[in-house]
Amino acid sequence: MKKTISIAIDGPSGAGKSSLAKRCAAVFGLQYVDTGAIYRTVALAAIRAGFRSADPEEVSAFLRTIEVSIQYDSEGMQHMFLGDEDVTGQIRSPEVSVRASDLSSFPVVREYLMDMQRDLAKSHSVIMDGRDIGTVVLPNADLKIFLTASVEERAKRRMLELQAKGETVSFDEVVKSISYRDRQDSERAAAPLKKADDAIELDTSSLNFDESFAALSQLILDRFYVENGEG
Ligand code: C5P
Repeated sequence: MKKTISIAIDGPSGAGKSSLAKRCAAVFGLQYVDTGAIYRTVALAAIRAGFRSADPEEVSAFLRTIEVSIQYDSEGMQHMFLGDEDVTGQIRSPEVSVRASDLSSFPVVREYLMDMQRDLAKSHSVIMDGRDIGTVVLPNADLKIFLTASVEERAKRRMLELQAKGETVSFDEVVKSISYRDRQDSERAAAPLKKADDAIELDTSSLNFDESFAALSQLILDRFYVENGEG
């Protein structure tokens, strides 16, 4: 293998990108980078500050008032910081999800977070998940995967996750929230969610986690160990 490799995993909310990427990172010795968490951290800052403006200049001015950073602990777990505060545990609420999707449509927000993402891929071998990794952030990624699943299947998975955390939401609410984010993420002008021309699409609607992981691992093995004759 060359010195650092990069794997981009894009796809809609709830397709299983993060849990699959995390497992692949552990098995293949890569750094897992969750780029959604970075957008979520900006969203949390906006919610806390009561910032609601949709004026790009004001969004830009707001970004200058916050300090977002990323750190990895000794187990490779990603932590998000606002200033000195570790906010990793506070960025998963439905409110933050929607605000992250809203704010991510501003080019100025995407630009603000770009270097952080690219720098990580320069210094580490990464498996990075998001919406625009293969198309914009790492257009030269060594392997690009576009991970999808039907809205119903993604909503079912999200329901189970929320229930496991003791949160009660209706199936319809979850479908509505996922569909809202799908629409907003796909239709925005700046770096919309779309499959890169050279990405491999993996539809996990009818696959469980282990089957999805097996399929993804095979793509990684084929690309890095078979094509290069290494392994
Ligand atoms: O992946 P996750 O659901 O945590 O991302 C939260 C939101 O951040 C997404 O709905 C999307 O709008 C935005 N996002 C993005 N580009 C990325 C990662 C996330 O626009 N690379």
